[in-house]
Amino acid sequence: MMLYLHEIKSKKNVYYMERKSLLTSKSSLIFIFGAAAIVILFYVYSAQQEARFLVRHPKGVMGTSCTIAARSNLRTNAQVDAALQKTETRIREIEAKMSNWIDMSEISRFNRGESIQLSHDTLTILQTAFDSYQQTNGAFDITCRPLIELWTQHSETGEMPTDDEIQEARRESHWNQFEWRDSNIIRTEKAARVDLGGIAKGYAIDKAIAVQQEHGITSGMVDIGGDLRYFDSTGNKPLTVDIKHPFQEGTIAQIEIMNAAVCTSGNYARFIEINGKRYSHIIDPRTGIPSDIVPSVTILAENALQGDIWATAISVLGEDGLTLLPEGVEAFLILGSREESAYICTKGFQTKLVEPFPRELHLWVPSNQE
Ligand code: AMP
Ligand code: MG
Repeated sequence: MMLYLHEIKSKKNVYYMERKSLLTSKSSLIFIFGAAAIVILFYVYSAQQEARFLVRHPKGVMGTSCTIAARSNLRTNAQVDAALQKTETRIREIEAKMSNWIDMSEISRFNRGESIQLSHDTLTILQTAFDSYQQTNGAFDITCRPLIELWTQHSETGEMPTDDEIQEARRESHWNQFEWRDSNIIRTEKAARVDLGGIAKGYAIDKAIAVQQEHGITSGMVDIGGDLRYFDSTGNKPLTVDIKHPFQEGTIAQIEIMNAAVCTSGNYARFIEINGKRYSHIIDPRTGIPSDIVPSVTILAENALQGDIWATAISVLGEDGLTLLPEGVEAFLILGSREESAYICTKGFQTKLVEPFPRELHLWVPSNQE
């Protein structure tokens, strides 16, 4: 062989060698392209295969149930699990700031009159709550904490509050008891207190979804107490959401959503009881009395913050409030009682129903489109 090698130092052979080397580089190119094609095919295949959801049920979140789920075609299970951990941490961080139940939360300290610089999260939510108070004609009002406490105390003693007590709590439950100063908000009256129970879940869900999106999750879901948001960046896998029946066990309707939030407010799950009579946990700030006109309101919106706010607001305003809904916010209302109920929904909501609604459904349209 060695001999042969010496002999082939001819031009021809060099050429041959060159040809050979040419051949070699061609075959390596073929090999490289082939390998690249296989890798690309693998990714396309695995993207089409859709990774399975990893699911967590963190306990003791915001006093209710919680489910977080995520999947990613381009991340390992360990990475998806780490993203779920971060999602949970973010929810707990928001709860630690905004809960009325946690003694050392920012909101508890603020309500006690401690002078503290509120965090960016809390200031953002207070500003959003104030804007919503204006957009809902005062129906959504986080300053109604004194009224909420009054009714809760009376549910414990079992006696109805007097008119005077209600009027006093109404005076204390007002935005005019607060002032924005520089980048902070302060209470100007001792009795003024806020309650973020109608908005904190929505805020936390949105922030949790943002964490998932920052960590390469292709499709994710966050559900806190039945309010949820879902996204699928591939855009081809909708999520079916059950809407609970307010008067009996089970589901009354199902909607299919994609990159949207669904939030429900109802007096069937959470309520107070005085003298054997049930009252809603939602207060009508205009009267100071629990609002029982809508047993169930489900809002479909782009994000959970909007969904949470409008579900609470429409619980107070009823059908009349639908004219106030911003563009892209859709609603489904169940009115009446177990014996006699009525169902109203906006057009955008109706189009998302999985099956035609089995009962008479009144379609609500804005007066300018009638
Ligand atoms: P949700 O279940 O989202 O409708 O929120 C209900 C919670 O919001 C109540 O338990 C109170 O903590 C708080 N809340 C009650 N009434 C109002 C109101 N009119 N505006 C804003 N928050 C309220
Ligand atoms: Mg709400």
